[in-house]
Amino acid sequence: MPDQLIRLNEATVDRIAAGEVISRPARVVSELVDNALDAGASKIEIAVDGDGTDRIRVADDGHGLTREDASLAVERHTTSKLPADAGDRVSEVSTLGFRGEALAAICDCATVEIVTSDGDAVGTKLRVENSELTVSDAARAQGTTITVTDLFADRPARRESLAAPAAEFGRISDRVAAYALARPEVRFSLSHDGATTVTTAGDGRRDALVGVYDATVARQATVVEHATDIDTVDGTGSLDLRGILASPSVTRASREHVRIAVDGRPVADTGLSRAVIDGYGSLLPGDQYPIAALDVRPPAGGVDPNVHPAKQQIGLRDRDAIESAVEDAVSSALSTADARRAEAAATDLTTELDAVDRADPFADLRVIGAFRDLYLLCEDDAELLVVDQHAAHERVNYERLQAAVDDTAIPTVTLDPPASVSVAPAAASLADAHADLLANLGFDIELFGGGTVRVSSVPAPLGRTADADAVRATLDAIAAGETPDDPRDALLAEVACHPSLKAGEQLSTEEAEQLLARLGECEQPFACPHGRPTICRIDEATLAAGFDRESTRFD
Ligand code: ADP
Ligand code: MG
Repeated sequence: MPDQLIRLNEATVDRIAAGEVISRPARVVSELVDNALDAGASKIEIAVDGDGTDRIRVADDGHGLTREDASLAVERHTTSKLPADAGDRVSEVSTLGFRGEALAAICDCATVEIVTSDGDAVGTKLRVENSELTVSDAARAQGTTITVTDLFADRPARRESLAAPAAEFGRISDRVAAYALARPEVRFSLSHDGATTVTTAGDGRRDALVGVYDATVARQATVVEHATDIDTVDGTGSLDLRGILASPSVTRASREHVRIAVDGRPVADTGLSRAVIDGYGSLLPGDQYPIAALDVRPPAGGVDPNVHPAKQQIGLRDRDAIESAVEDAVSSALSTADARRAEAAATDLTTELDAVDRADPFADLRVIGAFRDLYLLCEDDAELLVVDQHAAHERVNYERLQAAVDDTAIPTVTLDPPASVSVAPAAASLADAHADLLANLGFDIELFGGGTVRVSSVPAPLGRTADADAVRATLDAIAAGETPDDPRDALLAEVACHPSLKAGEQLSTEEAEQLLARLGECEQPFACPHGRPTICRIDEATLAAGFDRESTRFD
């Protein structure tokens, strides 16, 4: 149940950081999203037309307002988030809003329509145009939709000061991204002139990163959940840090992609973003900045949200201690993640190098037996090699198939009716630009708007029809700046698997030697087409070390 909506007394109003509340369309979006979050929304839909002065609509599924409260809410200094006589305690609020002036300020410079319901059968529609208020019944599920049109219509100077529509929408989009990353449990969507540009599923930080960036950035990111004690002005207190850090290999040219929230409120805090960047330290290439989102939760009483009219800056009591804890947390989260990656990469590297270094890597191999009719045991100087016969055979088949289909145009089949595939907004905008590349890969596509592409033909190599959904992975790869996989590859890998030797098939020594010889001819003999290793090496030193331990036990 929301608190009662009241008018703040003069003494409290005097404590509020004064200044212009609505300076550009992005500020309207911030204030409306603040309100939706404060109303406990789990889903927030934002729609913007043009540069935002045409129309901004924010719909939420929060607790809504009664008719009486809705009429009061558009007046100045009315709020449900503070007691009337809060006075100095203004700074103790835990809600994003607390001044009771945003709706009034928006009504001052635009036409505003509020449709809201607190769950009662009859909802309320409230319209404020040229200071005239009209109220009527409306049908709506619990929640609130606020539509702001003709922003700055009677303020030519304000309108003049706005940038081009793309730039104003860019600011809005950036604000929404900041909220989506600061509040990963809430579902956000943003659309511009009817086309969806951001959606998040409200299912955690990695998911929010997918919505704001893409799957590739998100996959390589490290989640931070870190609680630590810091020295504060009055002893010690606990600092909570939660966020997600993109891999240092994914960078941007500006620091705007480092997003800081304090107690769930997105803020522009140079000190804290500097601390995050310093945490990446030398992992970043020169002149590059990371993609990161961190929600900083300082010890109770350590934050003053009432220092800036747009609430985009906050006062931090124990700033030095917090900044250094942030830097440490980021640095240690990345070094753990990095160590894991390095381990994985090292195996890959040896594999690759072995493959190019030696003409036939298995020339000196001797088959000495088999284990469970699945693993071939081979001897190579001081090493024992264990070969997965199924994986090895898949690799051989795969490379043969590849040679067979190479250089021929990809056969395609027509889908009638065409399939609709929804793709990430970033990917959709690329579909058009890369239609030729997609056609080469066997996809015939058409942009359908709203993150949907229509697929009218798909690749069908070797009589196997690709899934229309494969276009999504292809667009993701283009979005990430990679060369998309030839759709043949996945199918070839699948085909290669079927006639391959299964576990449990017994091979004669001669057959085993043949398999190794064929494998040795492969371009990439060390992994099956699905990327699993074909060979595992155990050097004699490892065996010796193992037995030494055993032997000391029996000494
Ligand atoms: P503040 O957020 O500082 O209280 P606002 O002018 O933004 O001031 O909003 C005034 C009041 O209107 C809020 O305190 C809240 O009670 C109500 N309100 C505004 N937007 C919503 C919404 N989306 N859902 C429910 N209540 C809302
Ligand atoms: Mg507000």
